[in-house]
Amino acid sequence: MDAQAWQRLLDHLACGIVLYDADDRLVLCNADFRRLYSALADELQPGRRFEDILRRAVARGVIPEAAGREEEWVRERLREHAQPTGPLVRRTADGRWRRIVETPLPDGSLLAFSVDITEQVAKAELAERALADARLARERLDDAIEALPDAFALYDADDRLVVCNTRYRETYATSAPALNPGARFEDILRYGLARGQYPQAAGREAEWLAERLQRHRNPASPHLQQLPGNRWLRIDERRTRDGGIAGVRAEVTELVRREQRLVELNAQLDEARARLEQLSETDELTGIANRRHFERRLAEEVSRLERHGTPFALLLVDVDHFKRYNDLHGHQQGDRCLRQVAQVLAARARRPTDLVARYGGEEFAVLLPHTTRDAAMTQAMRLLAAVDDAHLVHGDSPVAPFVTLSLGGALAGSEPRLSTEALVQAADRALYRAKAAGRHRVEFA
Ligand code: GH3
Ligand code: MG
Ligand code: MG
Repeated sequence: MDAQAWQRLLDHLACGIVLYDADDRLVLCNADFRRLYSALADELQPGRRFEDILRRAVARGVIPEAAGREEEWVRERLREHAQPTGPLVRRTADGRWRRIVETPLPDGSLLAFSVDITEQVAKAELAERALADARLARERLDDAIEALPDAFALYDADDRLVVCNTRYRETYATSAPALNPGARFEDILRYGLARGQYPQAAGREAEWLAERLQRHRNPASPHLQQLPGNRWLRIDERRTRDGGIAGVRAEVTELVRREQRLVELNAQLDEARARLEQLSETDELTGIANRRHFERRLAEEVSRLERHGTPFALLLVDVDHFKRYNDLHGHQQGDRCLRQVAQVLAARARRPTDLVARYGGEEFAVLLPHTTRDAAMTQAMRLLAAVDDAHLVHGDSPVAPFVTLSLGGALAGSEPRLSTEALVQAADRALYRAKAAGRHRVEFA
């Protein structure tokens, strides 16, 4: 093949080729090379020295990277040209990129060729920018979750930890050594479980673990979780678009403790109220039900009678000649005597629903629910006998040498039905009859 045929061949190649001889003078170059340096068309003649061509190129602004430091650049380029160290990458005047490889040949000449790598450079730049963007996005995410006042953790679709913030590690201090990216949520739970991280799991670890996993994988509404030291978290988990779980944990210890205190206070209040109610319905002197208690029970019995027609009886009990008792034995002994009478009467109330109350002074009232006139009469006699049997000495009673009672009874439920007042009046009238008839007896309306 002759030189012209070689030249034609080289001119068809899509890379720039130039050959310098041992004296660094141009031997040949191809069409691509000429196109590249079209501004130097007159210089690219066989026999021209590399350095001259180079200086002319710089002078004509063909080498953008030399702009402003032309002499320095020429020196560096000549050094590189004399002893090539590897491919050069250069921007051309039209804004494209070339890779230039200079290869010394055995006879001392130098073959240089250059390839257009604009597209590769653009791709590499794109990849680098994408990488930088990704790095920036990650840094922003890290900064954002660090800035959260709450504990945050993100688990991926395989339930492995992607990222969590410092607050999360602090919150689960016991589990912190297990909080490594890539660790499975279940393994982190188990780690904490074995070390007492979750007081609510105590004694039912397996069940707790199953529940917690179920809830974590199917997040719905927020829930509370206890930490050691009566600390409390509100856990709010959400599914992410890629099937992961993003969880926020807010410390709500103060709120929960306030609620706990409120519940405690309420219980104490209920207890106090119940005690107060009991006190307010108890007679101070005798310890049995007082007049208020009696009135309430009487109203209940009346409404029961109205609703269900259940009859009940009322007995009014009065101590005979008690003024004389006081006068002889003294008021304090009188008090003691009233306590004893009250105790005897209360002990004789046969059924739990029977009520013995102090009605006032030395008078007592007895309610006998769900009874008949005969049964009430019998019960009245029993009460009278019981106080007789107690044999409480009365030194000034014309009736007996001991304390005796008079009783008046009335039955509610027999026709015609009596009003509450009429019932009490009926029992009172019966009591009056008992007194008038000589005391120490029972009269029934
Ligand atoms: P009667 O047989 O007619 O019922 O005579 P009585 O003296 O029991 O009746 P009266 O109603 O005249 O007097 C009741 C007395 O009961 C007057 C009062 O001194 C006494 N009394 C009332 N409440 C108490 C009390 O809480 N303690 C004491 N020690 N005495 C009381
Ligand atoms: Mg009286
Ligand atoms: Mg009396």
